[in-house]
Amino acid sequence: MRYERPTDLATAVALVRDEPGAAYLAGGTTQLDLQLKDRVVTRSLLVDIGRLPLRGVEDGGDRLTVGALTTMEELAAHPVVAARLPVVREALLAGASVQLRNLATIGGNLLQRTRCRYFRDAAVSRCNKRVPGTGCAAIDGTPRMHAILGAGPECIALHASDLCVALVALHAVVHVTGPGGSYSVPLRDLHVRPGSRPDVETVLGHGDLITAVEVPVPDAASAYLKVRDRASYEFALTSAAAVLRVRDGVIEAAGIGLGGVGTVPWWSREAEDVLVGAPATAETFRAAAEAAVADPFTVPGTEFKVELAKRTLTRVLRTVGERR
Ligand SMILES: Cc1cc2nc3c(=O)[nH]c(=O)nc-3n(C[C@H](O)[C@H](O)[C@H](O)COP(=O)(O)OP(=O)(O)OC[C@H]3O[C@@H](n4cnc5c(N)ncnc54)[C@H](O)[C@@H]3O)c2cc1C
Ligand code: SF4
Repeated sequence: MRYERPTDLATAVALVRDEPGAAYLAGGTTQLDLQLKDRVVTRSLLVDIGRLPLRGVEDGGDRLTVGALTTMEELAAHPVVAARLPVVREALLAGASVQLRNLATIGGNLLQRTRCRYFRDAAVSRCNKRVPGTGCAAIDGTPRMHAILGAGPECIALHASDLCVALVALHAVVHVTGPGGSYSVPLRDLHVRPGSRPDVETVLGHGDLITAVEVPVPDAASAYLKVRDRASYEFALTSAAAVLRVRDGVIEAAGIGLGGVGTVPWWSREAEDVLVGAPATAETFRAAAEAAVADPFTVPGTEFKVELAKRTLTRVLRTVGERR
């Protein structure tokens, strides 16, 4: 394996573009695990982007532009995030450990690979994501930490990011530069549901590099709630992010994301539709939760997530309602 550490964006993109087996390396907390420890991903070239000028947060008043190399800890500590985006701060601080958060970058967090234990075990031969067409060992294995939304018989692997759940609720936008030029994509459209091609995880082409994430700072209350087996250093069983603007008891605007349940960071337009224009009451919150988890795909071992996800969303909505 070769290793390069360019200092400018164009060189980094060209290096990956020119080699089919190349990939970017940011904090390395996912990439190095998969390549060196689990040995399930083989790259011929790792292009370390750590020296590119993509670190820092720009405050544009009603939005933050977060450089892709900003670490999770740096973003959580940013004064605007601390004061006006509790949903982002709570999601970040609920993720991984402080050691990991000091290394892990925002771009890498969006593109972290699944924690499906069968995907990460090279001795398992049935994994459509790792070896297309071989089947899915998780379906009749131990799928407790797997997805119920956007899932199907081909793959039930979870997207495990907490941050992404907060960012889809905020309707964040991802900026990309690649061999074909620069473009932007709403975060909710960045990840691709598995369908018959679980190995295709995002809309990014080979060599496309996330440069920044644009995060709206709405005039709204927000919160993130993560339900997990232990208090720290644990992925979500279920989680929910809610952003609500309420005036005179009526919900004027809403943003909803779910975690621990989706094959992609789960944005719920259905829940938002129930909430907007409705009174901010317990009945409305439960109706939104019913709409958000209306069409689950469960297998023995994941059914419990249906009700747990609804309760998680209902509770976080209540919290946000109280924060106004
Ligand atoms: C033990 C453990 C516990 C964890 N717990 C949680 C948790 O509870 N919640 C949570 O959300 N996350 C959790 N994580 C995941 C962690 O947050 C991610 O591993 C981390 O954010 C990835 O960032 P990185 O900079 O290290 O990415 P890397 O490992 O360097 O890269 C990850 C992937 O993204 C690609 N990539 C990175 N940056 C870019 C870019 N700018 N443009 C294009 N491609 C890019 C790489 O090629 C690679 O495929 C945990 C990780 C570990 C190891
Ligand atoms: S859930 Fe997806 S990643 Fe996990 S074993 Fe099945 S196909 Fe592979």
